[in-house]
Amino acid sequence: MHELSIAQNIIQIVNSSVEKDKLSLVDKIYLKIGLLSNVLIESLNFSYTSIIDNTPLKNSILYIELLPIKIRCNDCNEINTTNDFIFTCPDCKSSAINVISGDEMIISSIHLKDESE
Ligand SMILES: [Zn+2]
Repeated sequence: MHELSIAQNIIQIVNSSVEKDKLSLVDKIYLKIGLLSNVLIESLNFSYTSIIDNTPLKNSILYIELLPIKIRCNDCNEINTTNDFIFTCPDCKSSAINVISGDEMIISSIHLKDESE
């Protein structure tokens, strides 16, 4: 399953970027996911929570921000962002458009609980 391997990837990245003894303090992981990446958010959250169970990351939560799709028109050169899968240029109605972003998946930050709390 697509989302399960993404969840495993996230955990790998968190494991390699946070010191081992601080892993249990991770409480929020901020992700940015392009709308074109075909990730089912609910399924990703479900996969994630099921694999962190019984690991030092068990108290962490994913915060997912969806990124719009960016398209550039080859006819009028306008760049537009869209949340829908429309693939004609909103400016000149041309269908000669290129998708320039929208399939990214980025971990934007990893938040640790304050140890003094
Ligand atoms: Zn256009």
